[in-house]
Amino acid sequence: MATQFSHLLAPLDLGFTTLRNRVLMGSMHTGLEEAKDDYKKMAAFYAARAKGGVGLIVTGGYSPNFRGRLHPFSSQFSSKREANKHKKVTAAVHAEGGKIALQLLHAGRYGMHPCAQSASAIRSPISKFTPSEMSHRQILNTIKAFANSAKLAKGAGYDGVELMGSEGYLINQFICERTNKRYDQWGISYENRIRLPLEIVKSVRQQVGEDFIIIFRLSMLDLVEQGSTLEEVILLANELEKAGVTIINSGIGWHESRIPTIATQVPRAAFSWVTEKVRESVSVPLVTCNRINTPEVAEQILASGQADMVSMARPFLADPEFVNKAEQNRSQEINTCIGCNQACLDHVFKGKRASCIVNPQACYETELVLTPLDLSNNSNKRKIAVVGSGPAGLAVATSAAERGFEVDLFEQQDHVGGQFNLAMQIPGKEEFKETIRYFTHRIEKTGVNLLLNTPATVERLKSYDQIIISTGVQPRVPKIEGVDHPKVIDYQTLIGGNIELGQKVAVIGAGGIGIDVATMLTESEETSLDGWLEDWGIDKSMSHAGGLFPHDEHVSKRQVWVMQRKQGRVGKGPGKTTGWIHKRTLEKRGVELLGGVQYDKIDDQGLHITMEGQSRILDVDHIVLCAGQTSVTSLSESLKQQQIDFHIIGGADLAGELDAKRAIRQGVELAANL
Ligand code: NAP
Ligand code: SF4
Repeated sequence: MATQFSHLLAPLDLGFTTLRNRVLMGSMHTGLEEAKDDYKKMAAFYAARAKGGVGLIVTGGYSPNFRGRLHPFSSQFSSKREANKHKKVTAAVHAEGGKIALQLLHAGRYGMHPCAQSASAIRSPISKFTPSEMSHRQILNTIKAFANSAKLAKGAGYDGVELMGSEGYLINQFICERTNKRYDQWGISYENRIRLPLEIVKSVRQQVGEDFIIIFRLSMLDLVEQGSTLEEVILLANELEKAGVTIINSGIGWHESRIPTIATQVPRAAFSWVTEKVRESVSVPLVTCNRINTPEVAEQILASGQADMVSMARPFLADPEFVNKAEQNRSQEINTCIGCNQACLDHVFKGKRASCIVNPQACYETELVLTPLDLSNNSNKRKIAVVGSGPAGLAVATSAAERGFEVDLFEQQDHVGGQFNLAMQIPGKEEFKETIRYFTHRIEKTGVNLLLNTPATVERLKSYDQIIISTGVQPRVPKIEGVDHPKVIDYQTLIGGNIELGQKVAVIGAGGIGIDVATMLTESEETSLDGWLEDWGIDKSMSHAGGLFPHDEHVSKRQVWVMQRKQGRVGKGPGKTTGWIHKRTLEKRGVELLGGVQYDKIDDQGLHITMEGQSRILDVDHIVLCAGQTSVTSLSESLKQQQIDFHIIGGADLAGELDAKRAIRQGVELAANL
């Protein structure tokens, strides 16, 4: 079959082995590394991605020694006993025709424990622990530890290793002046500072021989002060080549960098130009990464010569079949990663197992299974009505239909998607429309009978074997004097109606939606990639160290206040790994963030509030209500009155915790258990 992705699907000959395509599944810590099940779940997780067509998988990071661990109980790979457990993983991937490399990651000063070590004893702004400075002997032992782990990885059946030299981890800490203040042969000059990565690569190559993949993840754009310059990055890339790496992968930004690099508001493929600049001077294959989430974007990068391979990590949580679907010209059926971080990185940073907001089966391959229904068993209650086609309704309807249930999906609007239709209109959240596109195709594929413009009635629902209510939520109207004033509008009416507001706006409520609304109200008209890079102070010429340059903040012309009643920090929203980006964005635009607010009344003068005992009038043109939601319950109440059984999920079940992650998971779990 002719494919539209000929560059993406072209094999890559590495001399001693050939990758089946140009797709690298980037390293991601999932929490399965520490699961106490001898890697059964991890084997199933990676095997599904190998079956789905990935060319080369890279595992989550494993430390080569104790001191390099991220956390005291994080994964380590330094003994035969540990290596033997991994044979299950490598065998499962190979059985599906895939290849897999183990990532070796020494956390250095990012180690969240008192034994952390680094080039110099300088604490990172995101760590509580000051690392100790490594002695010369400890450095030599660390090099040996990397080589030992690589040898063990080969013995465990891995096709290669990836050496983590970016994101601000140990190797990166040695490379950059920011964290390396040593006065010995491992510091001072750039040549000395890159000695550690080069010695590691040489020692690893010596241990594993020529027929083993060594990927080096090179920090090409540090995005921190006193990072490397382009000239230095190219010098290191050339030296790495000589030292024996097979592939160089791109790293963008340190964890402590205050610039977003992977969140949904980062434009797609926002950093491929960095890899392109380095590629001009290097001859081993180069991998590019960050916010590449569709085969179309990946193909474009490769076709235009920016890189030799494309790395995607989160897109394989969202859809293990990504590559196969692209190959079969079914890219419209790909469940696209929307870059939200909500169920992947946010989980990992809270010590929870990763999954995916749009695919709750990710990392739960052995537990959340959609078993086909036994169609010969007539006692199955097969006829199902699902009412409401928001995220919860879409998930349950399509998952149940996939199992073999006959599903009618009632939707009173003329389109599906519920709250996602609002989310996708927020600047930087356009990816949500991909989820609606995915479900629209899945409805068709699984045979769900979609009834648009069709409110469900109790009479009609009575004829079904099972009823599922997913009628969602409506905006809460807070009890404030004058809340019915014409200046007041709720967020749903504002976003859904695409209504233009005045130049001075107060937002009541600083949850996820209040932040989104404030972002929307202060968005500049400049939408190009260059505009975005400039806005965050990223130096596209890469002539400044670390890729940063001083820049002016673009304060919004519209004056916006965002408020909450709670005391404390305002503006971070719910995301653990994305909250700071929301807050920083609003601060850059001059939005005033107020906590501990009491709302007194609304009248022609504006919004009257009291803070710390002081009364204040915000002379605003409009007031937007983002004060949470209440469940839509009229139908479920009627069913209850008539004593008709039903299931209830999503916001209709718990408006207080309305959340797409919970809604979709609840939908799939219910479908699996029907
Ligand atoms: P929310 O997160 O519950 O926030 C509601 C806001 O309204 C809070 O700031 C709350 O603060 C305020 N509030 C609540 N009751 C009020 C009342 N009676 N009067 C005045 N203020 C009141 O809800 P949301 O912002 O509507 O978001 C809904 C869901 O969508 C959440 O689960 C959220 O996680 C999710 N979401 C996530 C994102 C994301 O980026 N991850 C973005 C959007 C939405 P006080 O009580 O302190 O006043
Ligand atoms: Fe992508 Fe969000 Fe899923 Fe993470 S949770 S993989 S960011 S869609």
